[in-house]
Amino acid sequence: MMHNPSKRLLLLAGKLGYQTRSFADAGRNLGVEVVLATDRCHQLEDPWADGALSVAFASPAEAAEQIVAQTRARPVHGVLALGDRPTVAGAMAARALGLPGNSPEAVQNCRSKLRQREVLGAAGLPIPTFFGFRRNADLSRILPRVKFPCVVKPWSLSASQGVIRANTPEEFAGAVWRIGALLESPEVRSTREPDLDRLLVEEYIPGREVALEGLLDGGRVRTLAIFDKPDPLEGPYFEETIYVTPTRLPAETHRAIRETALLATAALGLTHGPVHAEFRINSKGVWPLELAPRPIGGLCARALRFGPGKMSLEELLVRDALGLPGSDAEREETAAGVMMIPVPQSGVLEGVEGLDSARATQWIEDIVITARLRDAIMAWPEGSSYLGFIFARGLSNLAVEAALREAHSRLRFFISDRLRVEHPVTGRMPLVRSE
Ligand code: ADP
Repeated sequence: MMHNPSKRLLLLAGKLGYQTRSFADAGRNLGVEVVLATDRCHQLEDPWADGALSVAFASPAEAAEQIVAQTRARPVHGVLALGDRPTVAGAMAARALGLPGNSPEAVQNCRSKLRQREVLGAAGLPIPTFFGFRRNADLSRILPRVKFPCVVKPWSLSASQGVIRANTPEEFAGAVWRIGALLESPEVRSTREPDLDRLLVEEYIPGREVALEGLLDGGRVRTLAIFDKPDPLEGPYFEETIYVTPTRLPAETHRAIRETALLATAALGLTHGPVHAEFRINSKGVWPLELAPRPIGGLCARALRFGPGKMSLEELLVRDALGLPGSDAEREETAAGVMMIPVPQSGVLEGVEGLDSARATQWIEDIVITARLRDAIMAWPEGSSYLGFIFARGLSNLAVEAALREAHSRLRFFISDRLRVEHPVTGRMPLVRSE
């Protein structure tokens, strides 16, 4: 374990879970202190209970002021934001503290899906035609402007929550209604995100999709990994499944993806720290779907290891944020992948079978079920949390993909219908067997 006692990292996190803990572990390994700032203090478990700063990410300027005031006695030397919600507060805090970071304007450009389209379009990047509207707008005025097939989405949610493809005016009306109901739900309203009554509609872009995990340094984009997403993501909902790296796309396509990432980050004004970007590729080129100034979410980072010591992505990012040496390590050469286990239907998770057999699949390194038994789980488009994650490493991208599929096919999730379970007369319903 290294010891960097004088170094302190401020970590902003809207979700408290595995990812936050992984960063705490990385900090501990490096002997640096990680100070957590969150708006979820009511959910805190040890070991954060004593030291976490309680801030409101929905009011980023206030959050930054609070952070400045509360870190005066114990200064921090770097700032990292996890997830989309804390990124603006993180950028404002870094600026106020005189630490390296993206400008708040650049981060704001990424927070609204509408704003991001405007900025990328103005810079000449290939983007779909799009426009924004209020969710209770008169659809008879909106529909004549919609080109089908289209994708409808809220301005400010993430993880594909509320993202719906519509091929016809009827499907469009249904999607607007469904997203509206989601935006009205107490869970979403409690985030106090701005623009929760605004939707974006844009043309559907066909093609294959990749994700780029990058690290910015004064505007230079270092590609840490390009992930293929081998499952067709054609809608109507867009939950993620398999990510595999290195990509099997040809070298000239890598170059085009890197080039687009560079142009898009420059257009948005992003200059520092982690970036996670999604692109669609078709005969017309590389289309930036979305860029976010944060690392890959959930447990997916476990698919990435760097340098001879197999450093985690979290450790690499902590080093980068604090200016410690070693953040220039390259990803290992082995192919690696992760499957975000989809939620087949909403309900209550009653049981999981087949874990031992799935774990015994060749190339499978680990399977983590993150959904808790007896908890309500939600399928997309309303949902935003996976059942768990399957990790594989192997000789090739194809072997890793096949292993992830094989392991997933050995798992059985038992999900009961929440409404009927709660019904006093019908009582418990038979369990639904789902793939
Ligand atoms: P989020 O930030 O919630 O993930 P995105 O805008 O990135 O929202 O959309 C999520 C996913 O939906 C994308 O990764 C992609 O698969 C699909 N998608 C979104 N917009 C389009 C589009 N215009 N054309 C095709 N697919 C899209």
